[in-house]
Amino acid sequence: MWDKQIAKEYNHTYYLKNREKLLERQRQWYWNNQKRKIEYDRRYAKEHREAQRAASERYRQRNPRMDKIHRLARHSFLMPNCQLCSSTLRLVRHHPDYSKPLEIITLCQSCHRSIHNFKKEAIP
Ligand SMILES: [Zn+2]
Ligand SMILES: [Zn+2]
Repeated sequence: MWDKQIAKEYNHTYYLKNREKLLERQRQWYWNNQKRKIEYDRRYAKEHREAQRAASERYRQRNPRMDKIHRLARHSFLMPNCQLCSSTLRLVRHHPDYSKPLEIITLCQSCHRSIHNFKKEAIP
């Protein structure tokens, strides 16, 4: 009859007898999984990067004008605070007039959002 105690002892004896083998198997398993995880992460990063690149490429092709505006605006300076509410948090550039890509005003994200909601247009 097997009771729990015997089973435990048996397992323990088995463990002692096969300690090296078990540890080796454990190491092997760990290493295999580690390798699989590394490969998975690498593949994920690669696919993600390509998807991102493709998305911004599509955006560029659809909105060549906006892309140029954004590229120019990247180099224009932000004010130290929002020009509407003077918050210093999460500042973004806003174009009051897209025909003047270098003329930007600094807004916090919530003022920016309310301006665009008010004008009922997408946030560029
Ligand atoms: Zn603000
Ligand atoms: Zn804006």
